[in-house]
Amino acid sequence: MKPFCKRMQRWKACKPSALYFIFFIYFFCLAFLLQLCPQQAHAAALAANLPPSFTLHSLGNGEGPTLLVIGGIQGDEPGGFSAASLLVTHYQINKGSIWVVPNLNFPSIISSTRGLHGDMNRKFASISSQDPEFETVRRVQELILDPKVDLVLNLHDGSGFYRHVHENRLRNPSRWGQCIVIDQEAIDPDLAQNPRFQNLHGIASRVADEVNTRLLQHPHLYNIKNTHTRNYDREMEKSLSYFAICAGKAAFGLEASKELPPGIRAYYHACLLEAFMREMGIEFTRKFQFSPQGVLTALNRDVSVRLYDNRTVLALDDARSVTSGYIPVRRGADVKIAVSNPLLAVLPGKKQWRVVYGNRTLTSFTPQYFDFDESLNTVELVVDGERISAKLGDMIQVRKSFVVESLSGYRVNAIGATEEVDGSECGVTLRREHFQNRFSLDRAGQVYRVEIYKDHAFCGMVLINFGRENSPMLSNNPLTARAESSSDSDGR
Ligand SMILES: [Zn+2]
Repeated sequence: MKPFCKRMQRWKACKPSALYFIFFIYFFCLAFLLQLCPQQAHAAALAANLPPSFTLHSLGNGEGPTLLVIGGIQGDEPGGFSAASLLVTHYQINKGSIWVVPNLNFPSIISSTRGLHGDMNRKFASISSQDPEFETVRRVQELILDPKVDLVLNLHDGSGFYRHVHENRLRNPSRWGQCIVIDQEAIDPDLAQNPRFQNLHGIASRVADEVNTRLLQHPHLYNIKNTHTRNYDREMEKSLSYFAICAGKAAFGLEASKELPPGIRAYYHACLLEAFMREMGIEFTRKFQFSPQGVLTALNRDVSVRLYDNRTVLALDDARSVTSGYIPVRRGADVKIAVSNPLLAVLPGKKQWRVVYGNRTLTSFTPQYFDFDESLNTVELVVDGERISAKLGDMIQVRKSFVVESLSGYRVNAIGATEEVDGSECGVTLRREHFQNRFSLDRAGQVYRVEIYKDHAFCGMVLINFGRENSPMLSNNPLTARAESSSDSDGR
């Protein structure tokens, strides 16, 4: 909850009326459009109808040099936005500050397109107030202009490999992959907001030198691409980084090659981000092993979505493409969602809801609409012979067996279990072999839902994990929380 509150405070502090206006328009449009949507709205169509929105995550204590990192300005460049999300989920900033926007063009990310309304990175010199991305561009421009921001990084995946001289079709001066882009050698002295970061070429050279010591293969070598925007490049004049440069802020485009798998691109972006942090004197610790595999694992472990204050929980590691059985959602209420990663979103449809993570759909499920009963917050279980008390929404590690202790007035439904007494699994000892594989959330058949009901109302669920030890991130510690409008109110 905390990062969300922080950024809410920031927005409230700087522009209260604009914030309320944006949220009002957001909910009004979403509610209206979802009414109009056909029952099986395609995710791209739905995303196209979503108003632009991004999240801002403030890391560090707000002191010292401040780095602004922007991912996802173009929706089909997962190396960049994945690395930006990794900063939010797996780094701790001990000195200095980082502001991260990991999902600038979130609707385009969800739709896996460069831009749903044209190229957002060409809208920074001028933008029509009628443009659907007007608010997004204005909000991020305000962030760039914030006096606290010293240096701006815009993360991309680019074609081929940039080289100063022509080597072949993929390695030549017109390519963009594996380079640090600058618009000019240095910030104009009379404009420079922070003279320490004025020499763009000098900074980029030191960063490239450091990243080039971490190459997986020599052909991945990083170079500096100076677009000399002011003199030669009418297109780059419209870009985010040139907007920053004109405001006297140091700004760099970071590019990983689209010829490389997205996980490797994220690895190179992480190398670049760490080198920039060191350059700025920002100190950090990371919570994963630094290697391409370590980056990939960090991005794909402990992914979860929590709805309605933890009462409905989906653990999404190795998720089935379609979740079996019905998932309880709240009748007639907005979807209150908390996610473990800012690139996660739930797209409600009338028949199917989809959970997307960046460019990918992780799973889709069939919602079942219930009234919710909030009289219960914990469940008593005996797990492998030991008595424990679990909060609703917890993931419980089970080696051999578990029993949900008797709950007077409530009914327990272990989804997919074949053993029951009088229509409830309350008081029944359950083992892995009692569950039908197809009802697990994961493809390996290890994670199952245990749902609690009172009469016809849904109270909440816990997850039972017969497999790998889960990390503390899955224990009621969501990264961000937000509200999204539900598509249905009549429970059909
Ligand atoms: Zn790009």
